[in-house]
Order: sequence, then C-alpha cells, then structure tokens
Amino acid sequence: MTSRVQVIQPTFAPSRLPDNGKRFYIWTIGCQMNEADSSRVAAMLMEAGYRATDSEATADIVILNSCVVRQAAEDKVAGRLNALIREKRQRPDMSLVLTGCMVTNQQEKLAQRFPHVDLFFDPSDFDTFKAFVPELSDLEDDLETLPHYYVDTATDARVSAYVPIIYGCNFLCSYCIVPYRRGKERSRPMAEIVSEVEHLVQRGVRDVTLLGQTVNAWGHDLDGDAGLADLLRAVDGVEGLERLRFLTSHPKYMGDDILEAMADLPTACEHLNLPVQAGNNDVLKRMRRTYTVDLWVDRIQKARELMPGLTVATDIIVGFPGETDEQFDDTLTVLREAELDKVHVAMYSPRPGTLSARWEDDVPADVKHARHTAVEQQQHDISERLNQKRLGESVEVLFDSFNKGRWGGRSRGNTLVHVEDSRPLLGKMADIRITETTPWYVMGSVVGDPR
Ligand code: SF4
Repeated sequence: MTSRVQVIQPTFAPSRLPDNGKRFYIWTIGCQMNEADSSRVAAMLMEAGYRATDSEATADIVILNSCVVRQAAEDKVAGRLNALIREKRQRPDMSLVLTGCMVTNQQEKLAQRFPHVDLFFDPSDFDTFKAFVPELSDLEDDLETLPHYYVDTATDARVSAYVPIIYGCNFLCSYCIVPYRRGKERSRPMAEIVSEVEHLVQRGVRDVTLLGQTVNAWGHDLDGDAGLADLLRAVDGVEGLERLRFLTSHPKYMGDDILEAMADLPTACEHLNLPVQAGNNDVLKRMRRTYTVDLWVDRIQKARELMPGLTVATDIIVGFPGETDEQFDDTLTVLREAELDKVHVAMYSPRPGTLSARWEDDVPADVKHARHTAVEQQQHDISERLNQKRLGESVEVLFDSFNKGRWGGRSRGNTLVHVEDSRPLLGKMADIRITETTPWYVMGSVVGDPR
C-alpha cells in the first residue's frame, strides 16, 4: 500500500458541466482506494456545479481524505486539520469535511478532538456527504452509477482511472487496521463495474485499474460463482479499453484461473503485484497472513510460466514483533531468489486496535532502519540489473505527465519511462526504444507516431 498525497487539480473540470461559482479543494493521503473515493466526491461536486481550486484559502468546501495505515499518515492528517483552525475562524462559512479510514466508528472522538470540522463521513457512506451539501440533493439517487473520474481529453490527460470493485477485507492480518475501518468484503455487481468502465472509456480513459483491499476476493460474497477471472474477461470486452490492471491481490486467492485470464486477455497488462510481507513462515504465521512462503513463490512461478516477460512487485514489512536476524535473512534470500522488479518496503509500526499492537514492539528502531536499507540496497542492484537488460528493447508507453521538459509514462509492465520529444504526448500511447536505464526508471525515444 502506498502512502502518498494527492490533490484534485483545477484542470480536472470539463467545460460541459455547470459552474455555480463555488469551489472545492480535496486533499488525499493513502492508498489508491482513497484516491478513487476522492475522485468520486470530486465527480459528485462537479456534477452539482462546483469546480476544483488549488488551495484551501479559495475553497468553499475543503475535504481531507485520511489514512490510518501508518502512524505517520495519521499524524499528517491531524497536522493538516490543526493548520486549518485559523482558516475556519477567519472564514466560518467554509465547510470543512473529514473522510477516509480515520473516520470509521470514530466520529464522536474526532468531534471532540477537532471541533472546527463540520462533517465526518465514513468513506462508504456517500449519502451522508450528499445530505450535507445542499446542491447534491438534486443529483440522481443512484450514486453508484456516477463516474469516478471526469475526463476531457482536450484539457486533461487523465487517461487512467481507478475503479473500486470490492470494499473491505475478510482477513485479519495481525498488524492491519483495515478490516476494523473498512469492514467485511462487499463486492460490487459485475454489471455495475462493466457499465462504469464503459462510461470511463467513452470519456477518454484508456487504462483502468480495478481496486480492492483484497481485489482477488471479488465475487466471493455475491450470488453465483463468478470470480475475478470472470470479471477480467467481462471488462476486457469493453470496446476501446486498452489496458487493464488490478490491485491489491492476496496470495491465497491468486488462483490459476486469474493468471490464465491475465495471460489470455489482450487488455490485461503483464504486471503482477503480489504482497509477500515476509520471507519466513513463522513471521507470516504471527502476521496471520494464512499462506506460506512456498505458496507465494509457487504463484509467482506459475504467473511467469504463463506470461514470459511479466514484471512483478511485492510489499514487505521489516521489524515485525519478534523478527530475528535469521528470519529477516530469510526475507532477503526469498527476495534475492525471486528477482522482482519492484519491492515496496515498510518498517513495522503498531496500529492501536490491532492484534500485534498488544505485543511488544521489540525490534529496535536502528535495527528496523538497517533492515529497511538492506532490502532497498539489494533491490536497487536487482532493479539496476533487470533494467539494464532492457536496453534497446521497445516498449509501449502511455504518457500521463510532463515535468522538467520530459514526458513521463508507464509501460504495460508498469516501468516508469521518460522521453524528451517536441510533440504533445500527454494522454498518448507510443512505442519507445529504451536508450538509457537506471534502477528506478528508463529513458528512451519515440519510434513512429504517437497514437
Ligand atoms: S489482507 Fe491483511 S493486510 Fe490486506 S487489508 Fe486485509 S487484513 Fe489488511
């Protein structure tokens, strides 16, 4: 799970929508699920005539979308809320709203701690938000059919979109707060998801990522026996869609049927993110991950057999309570042998309310730091080697950024690619010959015409 900050940009407003003169500002921290929820809130507000603005000082409504996965993220939200006390005092008409994982079941406590906040709403409870904003009452009732993103390719290169397909999680990993805040698994119906993707593609989206805390549990709670493999096949059938991905998978549910669907479907990208979290079975047991290292290795091997050239990423936690030097070495060994393209590594920190928070956080901070650095250094060398092998190869890239004179985009395998080119590439797809590599990204030049 990444922990980054995202702000909905003012360019994110197609001219066909009404403008009631009111402005909103949304600040988001946390995972892609939060980004998707923020985009949905933005879509609702724009439908009702609001437009995005680039600062809290010019907004009529300010929404902070919070994360509690790490203490640092929660502290950042609290800091941001406290910094808004003055703004709220000077402009009492400005509405201040808090949503995200910090809110679930905590409204009363939060109201005492942050009395200047006007509304706390649970991330799955859009109706409460709708009731709070008078202009939203005219919107159609079925909010599920509202698109998460508005895309206007003339002004906006948002050619990629996140589509939540399942909320909540039925696992109880001992370190994780998500099940307590996001509740049990709730899958959205297949027809609704397909229709949303159609909607997005009609508005210019070319690349869709299906989201869920355990995305490959999709369908388990629905009638019938459809699973993620069936959903991938259905979404792949959406005319005009070019790229399809899904996040975050649980190794236990990564069945052959899903990997076979990925291998078969033209839109399914050759990239798999499969968290292992630790490379030692005793640690995995204490984490309550419900699988062994062998199962994870087997799933990666199977995926690579079916999809030669597949890129693979994983997540790791170092310094989990009781993790010995030997157990950590097992993690390093598993990662070295697996030769992954990307490893997201986090140092363990206890989250109040979880099982592991009751245990002693007994790995000293300097040891956690040293383990974190060891994983990063090892991965630096692996990524450097893997990327060097790509020199001279041609990859298809979808461009979504422009910074310091360089276009940036992602290959189907999720490699970050930069090019310098005088043509406008934002929102375009192009074949790129790789001319330079680093451990983190590659550089290249456009071959043929962008499309
Ligand atoms: S699978 Fe585990 S880590 Fe992932 S959301 Fe569920 S409880 Fe948290």
